[in-house]
Amino acid sequence: GSKVGAKLVIGNWKMHGGLRGNEVLLQKLANGTRAMPPGLRIGLCVPYPYLAQAQAMLGASRIEWGAQDLSAHDEGAYTGEVSAPMVADFGARYAIVGHSERREYHREGAILVAEKAERALAAGLTPIVCVGETQEEREFAFTERVLCAQLDAVLDRLTVEQAAGLVLAYEPVWAIGSGSSANCEEVQDVHAFLRHHLARKGDAVARIPILYGGSVKPENALSLFSVPEVDGGLVGGASLDATQFLEICDAAA
Ligand code: PGA
Repeated sequence: GSKVGAKLVIGNWKMHGGLRGNEVLLQKLANGTRAMPPGLRIGLCVPYPYLAQAQAMLGASRIEWGAQDLSAHDEGAYTGEVSAPMVADFGARYAIVGHSERREYHREGAILVAEKAERALAAGLTPIVCVGETQEEREFAFTERVLCAQLDAVLDRLTVEQAAGLVLAYEPVWAIGSGSSANCEEVQDVHAFLRHHLARKGDAVARIPILYGGSVKPENALSLFSVPEVDGGLVGGASLDATQFLEICDAAA
């Protein structure tokens, strides 16, 4: 079963932000989370150029930070890429890998995502591995097959010890940015399936956090977070608004 208590809420800014606006948002979040229960873990995945700002402004707060992607290589002639050790240099804790927007717009395949997860772990980062089916895949009853293919590529590449250090995020593609999340029964079904599938790699792997992502907002956070097997949320749009993100963190507290 899922971990008792200890929820994890991760904000995914996507390609939003600017130095001035971030300063206001980060300050509000640092202040607003101060009194929240210590068991609650909070992270923000920001665009690469703002990692230094996140480090400077969140270093003394209880919020951790990370990147939204990584290179599958640690260094070399890879123009435009950013490596896991570089992200780790800025005190980051997390790196999202395999977000559906990377899989779709950058043609990232399951093996590449697995390599990225491995590089993240090697650099001491916690990979947040995103999996999720499209609307069409769900309609054709391919959901479980798609999720298994995405997840197995990662699990097959890692040792049990490495896999036990992952965070998994279930993000149905049809719910991302749509304004309406998957309903609680849909989420419970998939999370239970994923938990069961993880267990094939051992008990320690079966206990990794499984986050739900896709239109998490203050109005639905409490019910989503009370679904069995949901260990927290990966929050896109609502993480750009301090009031909304703090309300979501409160719902997980
Ligand atoms: P959303 O995005 O909360 O804006 O739906 C979630 C995500 O893509 O991680």
